[in-house]
Amino acid sequence: MIGCREAVQRLWEYLDGTVEPDERVLVEEHLARCRTCCGELEFAKELRRMLARRPDGDLPADVLQRLDQTIEELGT
Ligand SMILES: [Zn+2]
Repeated sequence: MIGCREAVQRLWEYLDGTVEPDERVLVEEHLARCRTCCGELEFAKELRRMLARRPDGDLPADVLQRLDQTIEELGT
């Protein structure tokens, strides 16, 4: 089973639908067991929805900070 860091790294491709099918299974398996990553998934989904509404791609500083912090916490 992959760790949180790998799951998060693949999460973006997963949300984009560009992840390989076998890796998609790994991500889903991890998310099914890991409460930390379930929170991250909700956060990432929310972030992507927001990005979709902001075609210029600019992210508010607090969102970027939260994203960095979340990834950092998951990666340690
Ligand atoms: Zn996890």
